[in-house]
Amino acid sequence: MWRIFDISGSGVCRRCAGRVYGKVGTGIDNAMRGSIIQFIFSLLWKEDLKFQDEDSCAICHGIFGRLDIYREMIMDASREYEFRTFLIGSRFDADIIQNEERFHSETYSESIKKEFNRELGKRLQSFSDREFDKDDPDIAFQLDTRYDSLKLQVKSLFIYGTYRKFRRDIPQTRWIYGGPEKSDSLEEIIGKKLSGLTGCSNYFLHGAGREDVDVRMLGNGREFIIEAWEPKKRSIDLGELKTMVNSSGSGIEISNLKFTSKRHVQELKASDYYKTYEALVQSPDAIDGHKLTGAAQKLTGKVIYQRTPLRVSGRRSDLTRHREVRETSVLGVDGFTARIQITAQAGTYIKELVSGDHGRTEPNLAHLYGSELTVRELDVIRIHRSEING
Ligand SMILES: [Zn+2]
Repeated sequence: MWRIFDISGSGVCRRCAGRVYGKVGTGIDNAMRGSIIQFIFSLLWKEDLKFQDEDSCAICHGIFGRLDIYREMIMDASREYEFRTFLIGSRFDADIIQNEERFHSETYSESIKKEFNRELGKRLQSFSDREFDKDDPDIAFQLDTRYDSLKLQVKSLFIYGTYRKFRRDIPQTRWIYGGPEKSDSLEEIIGKKLSGLTGCSNYFLHGAGREDVDVRMLGNGREFIIEAWEPKKRSIDLGELKTMVNSSGSGIEISNLKFTSKRHVQELKASDYYKTYEALVQSPDAIDGHKLTGAAQKLTGKVIYQRTPLRVSGRRSDLTRHREVRETSVLGVDGFTARIQITAQAGTYIKELVSGDHGRTEPNLAHLYGSELTVRELDVIRIHRSEING
């Protein structure tokens, strides 16, 4: 109780005095606590505690009288955003915090920050049915009371789906390097529609692996999550997004859309499913179907050694990896070309598995066949998601 004497001599307001015992009692606010303390002192000790007006209080300097101004700032800044949950954080002058700590105890006292955030939160809640969420809010408001400035942190919107790609000139994500005009990436095709629906400031596509630009993605499709940055609208119609993308004539198709969370992105990127490919293989000479079938059989069930392909070695570190080829079969032969099907572990470079990449992949189909073979066209026709480890 003696702390109050210290305070009363320091020219603080009723609320700041009450906050010294802010953790004691429920159903009353700190100004009320201040009044109770004043009453107790006058009743028991005939002591007349004097409090300052909030505006001239040595601790809060009347900041609680500015709550409505801060509320308006927040309402103004957030007006164009759709959000259901929010969090308020605040920064105070170091002097205020230090000044307050002189009187405060761990056990009984509440900090000015805590009271401020709570009181501001109450004023915002009275506007709508929005809720506080301290773990994962749609918007976090960071109010700096030193400069009366406000920052908004808007949570990204994450949408999961699978895509199929029917063209051989669409990269998965935006081209990083300049150069000649390229076709839109999958990321842009979906992202531009998503921007139209959400009003987001930017977007990013996270794929569960990626195929080469010239490889089509068919069959059951590849999983992806598209992230919309700072979306103004969150409750968009995913059916509408799907229709917009699929009817755009861009050569891609998306399905199985659903809202998901950031946590899902890591999970998705770590997935390593086996994949089945179909390749159109070319030889400088007429292909011997019998010999090619024999070579394909030899590759079936093999673990291959694969050095980072020459074509990507400038961009990726040169290392040797082991990959399992589960099955290789010949679907048909037509003169200088053959259609083959390969099922292999995630991360296998299929073009190099066929050509050998100057001995950097061993064993390889060309070597086993005994003549040069190259992949002319490649499609992913199935991703084995339903199987464990493949
Ligand atoms: Zn005060």
